[in-house]
Amino acid sequence: MVKGNMLYEGKAKIVYETDNPDELLVYFKDDATAGNGAKKGIIDGKGVINNKISAYFFKQLKARGIKSHFVDTIGPREMVVKRLDMIKLEIIVRNVVAGSLVKRLGLPEATPLTSPIIEYDYKSDELGDPMLNRWHIMALKLATIDEMNQIEHLSLSINAVLRELLKAKNVDLIDFKLEFGRDKDGTILLADEISPDNCRFWDADTHEKLDKDRFRQDLGGVEEAYQEMLNRLTL
Ligand code: ADP
Ligand code: UDP
Repeated sequence: MVKGNMLYEGKAKIVYETDNPDELLVYFKDDATAGNGAKKGIIDGKGVINNKISAYFFKQLKARGIKSHFVDTIGPREMVVKRLDMIKLEIIVRNVVAGSLVKRLGLPEATPLTSPIIEYDYKSDELGDPMLNRWHIMALKLATIDEMNQIEHLSLSINAVLRELLKAKNVDLIDFKLEFGRDKDGTILLADEISPDNCRFWDADTHEKLDKDRFRQDLGGVEEAYQEMLNRLTL
């Protein structure tokens, strides 16, 4: 695999072309942002940890019949993935009230939800990732109804798998963000990453936050929390 031109530099990762037109190389950075880029910083070693945690989750999902873009890990910060036509949506799945839902629903943080909630954000830095519903998605032609049905079904299945895996590590999955894309046959595949950057992980007993909220809320112990999640999942 030969690393080619840089395609895109995002807030947390850099995407490169490779000598295979159907595959990309994703490089995981230590850069961290919050509040749509308003707060910026570095979380030392985050890229290495997120590369490992994402690969772990993608492999576990594959073993349970859920396909993703993951091809291989080829370096401490480098993952080879299938090149996808990305759907410009952030799919947010919630099991417990936290983050922006506290204000929106007027419920205290940590209130369990009786069934999961799925939300969609339009992936647009300029617009500040506004929340959309299916009607916006249809009107903007971001995805078809059939694709949205598949995405919801996959998201709920992924939620069930992740919750079960994490429960065994004494971690509650509060909420998380997924991204999906289409491969060259039009099949919808899970993409991007699954890591403490885009999931809320709480210790099941103490509710200690083991994710990017430690950075967002200046709680300290940020690097330690990322390392703790990697240890719990893989040691
Ligand atoms: P952001 O764009 O939110 O700042 P990142 O820094 O994580 O995000 O950059 C990674 C970019 O790569 C994102 O825009 C994401 O949608 C995109 N991406 C993730 N997986 C794939 C894939 N398999 N094919 C093409 N693009 C992808
Ligand atoms: N999330 C994300 N990227 C975003 C927005 C949210 O990864 O651009 C994740 C976030 O880590 C959390 C979940 O989606 O696990 C729900 O986030 P929420 O909408 O509550 O975001 P907040 O307003 O708290 O950042």
